[in-house]
Amino acid sequence: MTDDVIIVGAGLVGICCAVSLARRGKTVRLIDRDAPGQATSYGNAGVISPWSIAPQASPGLWKSIPGLLTSRERPLRVRPETWPQMVRWGMRLLSYSAEDKFRAGSRAMIPLCGPSITLYRRHLQEAGINEALVEDSCYIHAYRRDDGADLNGLEYRVRAEAGARLKRLNADELHEIEPDLGPAFRSAVVIHDQARALSPGRLGAALAENLRQRGVAIETAAVTALAPGDNGWTVQTEGQSFSAAKVILSAGAWSAGLLRPLGIDIPLMAERGYHMQFRDPGIRLNNSIMDVDAKIVASSMTDGMRVAGGAEFGSLDAPPDPKREALLRGQARRICPSLDDSKGELWMGRRPSLPDSLPALGPLQGVPPGLIAAFGHSHYGLMMAPATGEIIADMVTNQPSDLDVKPYDPHRFA
Ligand SMILES: Cc1cc2nc3c(=O)[nH]c(=O)nc-3n(C[C@H](O)[C@H](O)[C@H](O)COP(=O)(O)OP(=O)(O)OC[C@H]3O[C@@H](n4cnc5c(N)ncnc54)[C@H](O)[C@@H]3O)c2cc1C
Repeated sequence: MTDDVIIVGAGLVGICCAVSLARRGKTVRLIDRDAPGQATSYGNAGVISPWSIAPQASPGLWKSIPGLLTSRERPLRVRPETWPQMVRWGMRLLSYSAEDKFRAGSRAMIPLCGPSITLYRRHLQEAGINEALVEDSCYIHAYRRDDGADLNGLEYRVRAEAGARLKRLNADELHEIEPDLGPAFRSAVVIHDQARALSPGRLGAALAENLRQRGVAIETAAVTALAPGDNGWTVQTEGQSFSAAKVILSAGAWSAGLLRPLGIDIPLMAERGYHMQFRDPGIRLNNSIMDVDAKIVASSMTDGMRVAGGAEFGSLDAPPDPKREALLRGQARRICPSLDDSKGELWMGRRPSLPDSLPALGPLQGVPPGLIAAFGHSHYGLMMAPATGEIIADMVTNQPSDLDVKPYDPHRFA
C-alpha cells in the first residue's frame, strides 16, 4: 500500500508532524523501532517556551569553554572517541557566536518556539486528552551570586526585544516564589508566559495513541534504508518495506546515519544529556528552574522531581557515564536541600544537535524529490515540535507561507 506520507521516527517531532498532516487529511504512517515518544522526547526537562530563543553559540562562548570542560559540574564533556569530529563541529558552532549571527539565529528561533504552547494545547484539546500534561509556568534562571542575574545580558535583551516579560528577583523574592529552593541561589531572572510538560513521555504517548485512533498507522520497526522508488520513496525496515510520495525523516540524533548511504552528509551530533527523576521527593517546584552555573534544569513532574542537563558529545551508542548519577544527585540536593532522593532513577538521551542551534527542515537535495528533513532540534525539540509539524505540513501540502525557511535549509552547512 502507498501512503501519502511516511514519517520515520516517532519522537515528539515526528508525532507533531503526524498530527499536523492528519489534520490536513493526509494518509500518514509513522514508523519507529520503539514506542512513540520514548527516546529523547521522554527525558527532557519539560520546558515549553516561546522565549527560548537564545542560540547555544553566544558572543564570548569560546572564553568559557575551558572552564566548562574542566568544571566538576561536568556541564560540557567530549568523549574521547568524538574529539576528532568535535574540533570541526565546535569551530563551526563558534562561527555562529558573533552578535549579528547570534541575533539572526535568535530571530529564526522565534517562529519555531513562539506557537509552542498554543499548538500543544490545540493538539491536546482536539484529541480530547484531558490529562494535565501541559501546565502554565514561568522559567526561572537562578544564580548563585547576588549580582548574577543581569537583564542587560544579550540572551535576556533578545528575549525582551522579542516581547518576553522578564523580571529580576533578589534572593528573598526568589525564595518567596520557590520556598523549596536552596539558599545557595541569591538572584534570578523570571521569564513569564511559559509552560512546562508534566510528563513529556506521556505527552508523546497520549498524542500518538490518539493518532492511532484517528487512523494513522503506527508501525514498530527499525528502518534500515531509505530509497527512491517509482512514485516517491521506499522505507525499508527489517521485515517489510513501505512506500509513499513523501517521506519525512524525523529520527532525531539517528537521522544523519540514514542519509549517509544516500550521499548526504549533515553535521548532526549526538549531544547526550542526563536526568535523575526522584519519586516521592517531598518537595515541589512551582516553575521550571535553571541552576545557571551548573546548567541544570529542575522541574516538578507528575512522577516526581526531575533534574536534567549536561552536554556530553559522544557516539550514539556509547554507554552512559556512571559518574552522572552521583553528580546529578548532589546537584539536585543543592537545588532543593530538603529533597528526599531515596527513589532516584538515572536516564540518558541524545539531543540531535546542529552547530547553529536550528533544526534541518525541508526537502533534501541531490536525491529524487519527496524526502524531507525534520530533525536537529538540539536543546529545543519539545518546544519546537508543534511548529515544526505545521511547517512540514505546509511544505507537504504546498501551502503558501510567509515564513522564511532558508535558516532551516538542511544543506546550509555544505
Ligand atoms: C537532558 C535533556 C533535557 C532537555 N530539555 C528540553 C526542554 O526542557 N525543552 C525542550 O524543548 N527540549 C529539551 N531537550 C531537547 C529535546 O528533548 C529534543 O530536542 C527532542 O526530544 C528531539 O525530538 P526528536 O523527535 O527529534 O527525537 P527523539 O525523541 O530522539 O525521537 C527520534 C525517534 O526516532 C526513532 N528512530 C531512530 N532511528 C530509527 C530507525 N532507524 N528506525 C526506526 N526508528 C528510529 C527513535 O526510536 C526515536 O523514537 C532536552 C534534551 C535532553 C537530553
